Amino acid sequence: MPIATVNPATGETLKTYDALGEEEIERRLATADAAFRSHRTTTFAERALRMNRAADLLDEDQQHIARVMTTEMGKPIKQARAEAAKCAKAMRWYADHAEQLLADEEPAERDVKDSGASWALVRYRPLGPVLAVMPWNFPMWQVVRFAAPALMAGNVGLLKHASNVPQTALYLEDLFRRAGFAEGCFQTLLIGSGAVERVLRDPRIKAATLTGSEPAGRSVASVAGDEIKKTVLELGGSDPFIVMPSAELDRAAGVAVTARVQNNGQSCIAAKRFIVHTDVFDAFAERFTAGMRALRVGDPMEEETDVGPLSTEQGRADLEDLVVDAVGAGADVLCGGERPARPGWFYPPTVLAGITPRMRIHREEAFGPVATLYRVADLDEAVAVANDSPFGLSSNVWTHNGVELDRFVQDLEAGGVYVNGMTASHPAFPFGGVKRSGHGRELSEHGIREFCNITTVWHG
Ligand code: NDP
Repeated sequence: MPIATVNPATGETLKTYDALGEEEIERRLATADAAFRSHRTTTFAERALRMNRAADLLDEDQQHIARVMTTEMGKPIKQARAEAAKCAKAMRWYADHAEQLLADEEPAERDVKDSGASWALVRYRPLGPVLAVMPWNFPMWQVVRFAAPALMAGNVGLLKHASNVPQTALYLEDLFRRAGFAEGCFQTLLIGSGAVERVLRDPRIKAATLTGSEPAGRSVASVAGDEIKKTVLELGGSDPFIVMPSAELDRAAGVAVTARVQNNGQSCIAAKRFIVHTDVFDAFAERFTAGMRALRVGDPMEEETDVGPLSTEQGRADLEDLVVDAVGAGADVLCGGERPARPGWFYPPTVLAGITPRMRIHREEAFGPVATLYRVADLDEAVAVANDSPFGLSSNVWTHNGVELDRFVQDLEAGGVYVNGMTASHPAFPFGGVKRSGHGRELSEHGIREFCNITTVWHG
């Protein structure tokens, strides 16, 4: 894939970039290594000052960078501004909390004695340069939720961003530099995916984090495994959205629409499979389909637009293939399902019912505004259908029944259970999945500790 800004609303190539050559990659690895040696010795207060400055600069730049993101990957402009604001918030959260999250821990006195020590503690030390392989769908948030904790912990970052968001990638490098982080603390590597292995195998790189597809995750994790390097993987999702009879249907249907089409439907934590109790299935399907039909699809730069184009031509073709496969195998199209005749990579909000396990969309991630509806007879079937997926990122359940709630929290195979609301990440809560959705956690204390050398200090 060429490294280029291609406007998905028009298909026009606006700017292309040459990938870094071997010499430049080597120079940047050396710079990162040197930067780590000094950055790790800075105090939390010094890092926090810079991180807060980055947040302030980002707030000042919000209008500009939102337009860059929308131009590069097509998200509606109001969502791009919200993404920039959310990044500034996460930066401030880690600036405020990192010192406390990484404070020395003292084991219980009884255990210290039992080990034969006079005293002992656990210290969170930084690991070193971390490679971040990131996707285009939230081109700033995916990076910042790694970079803010990593830099606050004393690590340094090298970003290999998706090839279709180079301007956002370069902006991020510039942002951290302007905020006062020393040269090399955060660098963007304009390289193709083929060069990732070479960087990851370099002994100066200590760990890697990847957000993206399963094949990309498998490839990076295999190389990292071969090198005995830690990885955090945040891969795809096909989150269930379960609606039980006690749910407030109007609210559930309204939130369901947002949960499915946010970011033009290209979100790992978007609700994708709507699993509805038979008693309320028809009423929910009617409200949900009406909501999906009413969305405004169009130019993502327009304030009124709800759904813009998909980010790449290939992404739209992949989504269309899933719909064609499902319809061919007997799925009912309640709305959408036909690509519009216009330039750009648009696809309409689409609702499919009558999904069966032999359809590809039952087990593959639909990365675009296509929802699947399932009718279930009872709680057991709701849990069984929800778990019948290779993915396990998050889940949404709508119920006011305590027994049902306990069962969902106990049995849903996912890294999150969001009740009477939709999944959304927040700096204070851990984020990540199980099964093919990956491993490790981002955000919260769990995220910042992933790339720490958790060191036992024992004194006899
Ligand atoms: P990819 O997983 O291919 O891209 C994500 C990142 O990984 C990019 O930086 C990409 O670089 C890089 N990458 C790709 N392959 C490799 C590899 N073998 N080794 C190292 N790095 C690699 O996502 P796509 O853009 O192709 O999207 C395909 C599907 O992935 C989507 O339809 C969706 O299902 C899923 N996806 C999930 C996301 C999530 O948030 N969970 C985000 C994006 C995609 P480059 O751009 O240069 O190829």
